[in-house]
Amino acid sequence: MAALEGMSASHAPAVRPVAIVTGGSRGIGAAVARRLARDGFDVALSYRSGQEAAEAVAEECRAAGAKALAFRADAGSSEDCATFVAAVLAQFGRVDALVNNAGITRDGLAMRMSDDAFDQVVSVNLKGAFVMCRQVLPAMMKARAGRIVNVTSVAGVFGNAGQANYSAAKAGLIGLTQSLAKEVGSRGITVNAVAPGFVETDMTVGLNDKLREAALTRIALGRFGQPDDIAGAISFLVSKDAAYLTGQTIVVSGGLSL
Ligand code: NAP
Repeated sequence: MAALEGMSASHAPAVRPVAIVTGGSRGIGAAVARRLARDGFDVALSYRSGQEAAEAVAEECRAAGAKALAFRADAGSSEDCATFVAAVLAQFGRVDALVNNAGITRDGLAMRMSDDAFDQVVSVNLKGAFVMCRQVLPAMMKARAGRIVNVTSVAGVFGNAGQANYSAAKAGLIGLTQSLAKEVGSRGITVNAVAPGFVETDMTVGLNDKLREAALTRIALGRFGQPDDIAGAISFLVSKDAAYLTGQTIVVSGGLSL
């Protein structure tokens, strides 16, 4: 999918659009960073602890012709988010797309879930996305253009036993997406969400065989998702082809029914 109109590397080499991807060191975020670099974006990706992995992804983005920056920024820290966006603006001078991908799980039955497990998951998955949006909006409003994509989950759309904290955070992300879309639509900024189903990454690698087999029977396409499956949908949402699409949640689950 080509990058935003008038800014694509292939059509206007003078200026490449800039994308921020949170949690870009592994899994879905890494696939998104690589994909957007191929699409013509310069890419700034954040990580919490995986510096080496993040630097390797940034290097792959450079190999695809992009400028790339790997930056340590805890999505659960408003201060880190502000420093990250300030660094991106200082180094790249603009921000055209934000992909709020950083996420964690701390699963457990609700009646035994600690405050800490609830707060941490909400802090990283939901509040972190909100803070990143708040930080990029002044630049996007000024440019009267921008794309924001929040990575939610089927758990936020349908709920999931054992994930009250995660489902609440991801459902909150859908509310954030819809409200923000209404707030900033008149400034040419779109805000959408992607809800992956079961994607093979570090987040799901620990699931036991029984759970995996049960999940597989509920996926219409008969296979688990790969990070590139999600990156493809995000590539579309930040492209010029998605200019008239906002406030929506695209479920990318291979037809998973819960
Ligand atoms: P993953 O493989 O566990 O990777 C998580 C990424 O987020 C890593 O880059 C990690 O950085 C980063 N991260 C974690 N906590 C962070 C923090 N506090 N601050 C900054 N970065 C942080 O996860 P994934 O499967 O790719 O998931 C990506 C997104 O998709 C998440 O929002 C997740 O909820 C969502 N999702 C995943 C699935 C799935 O089946 N995998 C399904 C639905 C939704 P470090 O390397 O530094 O730790």
